[in-house]
Amino acid sequence: MNETPTGSTDNKTDNNPAEVEVGIRQFQQLIKEMYYEKDEARGIEGTFMWLMEEVGELSSALRSGTQEERSGEFADVFAWLTTIANVAGIDLAEAVNQKYGSGCPGCGNFLCNCSDSEKP
Ligand SMILES: [Zn+2]
Repeated sequence: MNETPTGSTDNKTDNNPAEVEVGIRQFQQLIKEMYYEKDEARGIEGTFMWLMEEVGELSSALRSGTQEERSGEFADVFAWLTTIANVAGIDLAEAVNQKYGSGCPGCGNFLCNCSDSEKP
């Protein structure tokens, strides 16, 4: 049996790697192992076009898709975003933690109280 990167001891996931819940760092590593060579060859611009296509598919799924289709499109958008982070050399877990780990980047609170006229 393979050890999972998370060191999970959850009984129901132990024998099925497909059911192991992955965190952001593990997911980025997974995507890197699966696609990095192709992603690097395609480059940031080409990869960004694929992300935009997936965002369009998410839009369609949100408008008229089933919940299962929406779920799949969210996963695709996140995967393509992660792929671009790999090509651009960005550690997503670190980026998210730095920007949002201490609360809202605008007001600094964990329950945002930025004015409605501001972006967050
Ligand atoms: Zn805020």
